[in-house]
Amino acid sequence: MAKHIFVTGGVVSSLGKGLNCASIGLLLESRGLKINLQKFDPYVNVDPGTMSPFEHGEVYVTEDGAETDLDLGHYERFTSAVTNRNCNLTTGSIYHSVITKERRGDYLGKTVQIVPHITNEIKNGIRKVATPGVDVVISEIGGIVGDIESQPFLEAIRQFGQEIGRENVLFIHLTLIPYLRAADEMKTKPTQHGVGILRQAGIQPDILICRTEKPLTQDIRNKIALFCSVEKEAVIEETDVKPYLYDIPILLKKQGLDEIIVRKLGLRADGDNLQEWERMLETLKNPQSSTEIAMVGKYITHQSAYESIYEALTHAGIANNTKLNVRRIEAENVEKEGPEKCLKGVSGILVPGGFGERGIGGKVSAVKYAREKEIPYLGLCLGLHCAAIEFARNVCGLRDANSTEFDKSTQNPVIYLLEEQKKIEKLGGTMRLGAQPCILKPGTKAHTAYGKDEVSERHRHRYEFNNAYKELFISKGMIFSGLSRNEELVEIMELRDHPWFVSVQFHPEFKSKPIKAHPLFRDFIRAALSGAEVKEAEKPSRQLAV
Ligand code: GLN
Repeated sequence: MAKHIFVTGGVVSSLGKGLNCASIGLLLESRGLKINLQKFDPYVNVDPGTMSPFEHGEVYVTEDGAETDLDLGHYERFTSAVTNRNCNLTTGSIYHSVITKERRGDYLGKTVQIVPHITNEIKNGIRKVATPGVDVVISEIGGIVGDIESQPFLEAIRQFGQEIGRENVLFIHLTLIPYLRAADEMKTKPTQHGVGILRQAGIQPDILICRTEKPLTQDIRNKIALFCSVEKEAVIEETDVKPYLYDIPILLKKQGLDEIIVRKLGLRADGDNLQEWERMLETLKNPQSSTEIAMVGKYITHQSAYESIYEALTHAGIANNTKLNVRRIEAENVEKEGPEKCLKGVSGILVPGGFGERGIGGKVSAVKYAREKEIPYLGLCLGLHCAAIEFARNVCGLRDANSTEFDKSTQNPVIYLLEEQKKIEKLGGTMRLGAQPCILKPGTKAHTAYGKDEVSERHRHRYEFNNAYKELFISKGMIFSGLSRNEELVEIMELRDHPWFVSVQFHPEFKSKPIKAHPLFRDFIRAALSGAEVKEAEKPSRQLAV
């Protein structure tokens, strides 16, 4: 039977619960345990798929095509767990399933209530991730204790602990110890209140992870332990680790958190293998060079909107022993100021995924700049669409070429709606989602990067390349280096006469890890690094345009 760890948060949100869950997962894996992770989000949306990236940050896509919270990205980057749709449940999804059952008549005439029906559904959700062979399930409760929405979740995890036995459950609470500059004092009272709320819900935390600006004094530790009824050594200090968030597991391990968890849960865990992670951190902190690449996007001011991409770039930096500086460029600024002003001097250009027309002109001119100046280019999903539009317009001479996402009446729809999308009316969960196989063409940059003939990558899109333009594109120097198994869908396109210009219909960023950079990101940065040397010799730009 699996043991369970529940992680709650107090005082304020954004303390990094997801990163802490991921770090605990890594520490337990390093001890030889098999883990699974899941997140409960107390909001009413069924999933974050329909939420604005400004509002919610990136939508992380799982292998089985669920649109989930970005914390699942942290789980997969830190650990070897592969998440699925059971790993992110929201108040909306829980109610949706209870109401569906009610309409079907499953409750046999009973009055359907938050307790027990909603709480039972939450408990079922917890059981679903405790799959055979899993030693520990880590469940994160989003939001903070005291929020109205989180109450059913607290009740459900309390009941769950009661049912499987207190010795099989651990409650970890992430809290903030604010430092008041004027008084030169650290304050434990907000933490006491947070723990008080947990206790009212019948939950006594076993471990407190204390986010703090300054190291905790022994005095403060004693106070927290005494007032919150937690063992002294179970008061864990967590100071800011920026910019190296991959340091969190090391910070926690130094204070023996893994040992405390293993002891308290009575787990047999003899392994202790964090070497690979430590080697990765060593390279991350001591890079041999630095490179600047540009990312031209629409939510560029918003770090979390492109969380997995920034991380995948960091991983590619580690793999190439270089520090990556990412010039974040608002696509609309490229429209206003021109590509030369915005992009001059960068060694690589990336256009990420996105939706809607705003900024498309800027993205397309960034692609043109990359193609003409022979700057390595990586296009992700919408970045492939922009590459196709640019190539059609400027190389194939189809001046009005567009995606029907932006111009329904274009005479040259090089990107158009997927056949399966044409009848779909509802927004939520209806895109082409999740892992799809892709066959690679030997001798291409994509094939070289992956080093194999078939790969599987995660998708999230409605539009695709229009095969009516394939022959024309090929005749002008485009290579279709990745196709779906039935060869009907274009998955990867690359330029023949260019140092490294690859665009993909999928989202490789979701599968990149710090200890194993994604091959496409890795080779993109490798090309950027070698291009940077070439540039010193002032290579003239080559025009492909007809
Ligand atoms: N908006 C495009 C589509 O729906 C691209 C989506 C994306 O970049 N994820 O196909």
